[in-house]
Amino acid sequence: MTSGNPYRPGRNHTSRTYPVIPPIYQTTTFELDDTSYADIQGTGGLRETWYSRFSNPTVDAAASEVARLHGASRSLMTASGMAAIATTLVTLLRSGDTVVASKQVYGDTDDLFQRDLPRLGITVVRVDAFDLAAWERAVAEHHPTVVYGETLSNPQLRVMDVPAVAAIAHDAGARLVVDNTFATPFCTTPLALGADVVVESATKFLSGHSDVVAGAVTTNDANLAVEVQRRLITFGGCLDPHAAFLVWRGMRTFGVRLAEACRAADVIATKLADEPGVEHVRYPGRLDHPDAGPVIDTVMPNSKGAMVCLVVEGGDERVLQVLRRLEVGTEATSLGGVETLASVPFNSSHFNMTPQERLDAGIPPGLLRLSVGLEGADILVDDLRQAIAATATR
Ligand SMILES: *Cc1c(COP(=O)(O)O)cnc(C)c1O
Repeated sequence: MTSGNPYRPGRNHTSRTYPVIPPIYQTTTFELDDTSYADIQGTGGLRETWYSRFSNPTVDAAASEVARLHGASRSLMTASGMAAIATTLVTLLRSGDTVVASKQVYGDTDDLFQRDLPRLGITVVRVDAFDLAAWERAVAEHHPTVVYGETLSNPQLRVMDVPAVAAIAHDAGARLVVDNTFATPFCTTPLALGADVVVESATKFLSGHSDVVAGAVTTNDANLAVEVQRRLITFGGCLDPHAAFLVWRGMRTFGVRLAEACRAADVIATKLADEPGVEHVRYPGRLDHPDAGPVIDTVMPNSKGAMVCLVVEGGDERVLQVLRRLEVGTEATSLGGVETLASVPFNSSHFNMTPQERLDAGIPPGLLRLSVGLEGADILVDDLRQAIAATATR
């Protein structure tokens, strides 16, 4: 150790110690030797660790963990959830192709479908994700290359019939891409239900601490994984090693975090359903949920997720006051952290819609979206109760 080379510090680590936790390989480049050159020439550098936009051991550690959660053969980490979605779509689609996509998707995904993909010569056909006949009609009429939807929608918390939509897509020779960010691999693994690719924002439940922006693409199709990797290399949507470490670290507690958050969400949904001032509770674990029955039993058979929506009487004006009165929940967008986050779609995720458009999209006035954290179910129930009581008009 004393004869270290200050110009080549990576070479100084000669001790035979094995870290329990993957080191953060905060390096852009790796020393090359004859094997590296052979790989670079043989596979275009896709396998060898030689430059961190291609691959990096810390990023690979996070990717392996996402793949394990999905029981999948391969995941690729991306710089954000949007990088996962955009990179997957530009991999699968080319000019002249058609994508049939759910109308109920994340706002920036919606922009991608409305603005960016059409500019690349891709036709986008939109359907109501919860109307199987609409999927069937659109796929039969438009012969898409890709079919796209979200397992659990925001903020309606509707559940897509993944096996049925996968069958419709496959019958037409299309591939099904599913955004599983809200449901998470704790509640459902869409590849096992027929999806071909899962895209996720690891910013949310996967990392779980609201401290890193990241994404993941997961598939059992080895060739497709290589094609996505090539686009990550050329479009540059790779994840930074330090960010990858945070994602990896967050996933160490993924199972226990989600078990507790889903349990607390269920308690909140049950206890607030009959609360004075609450018009309605939307949670996939409730019998009055529109997809209760075979769809939820198949797609989310066990835990029903950590997202709950309440509709309070008195509309958007009242719900804003409720939001401000919360003492435990934090008024913020995003989701999936250890802390409970509360937001109202009308002034954040869905502000660009008119009230009527929101109503048509299943977002009534007074809707409060909760990403349930780990503070404890009773503490959260009490917090919501006091905030609702404090804003009662009579
Ligand atoms: C947050 C989110 C995204 C985008 O993820 P980023 O990590 O913010 O890029 C995509 N889809 C859904 C459903 C999300 O909630």
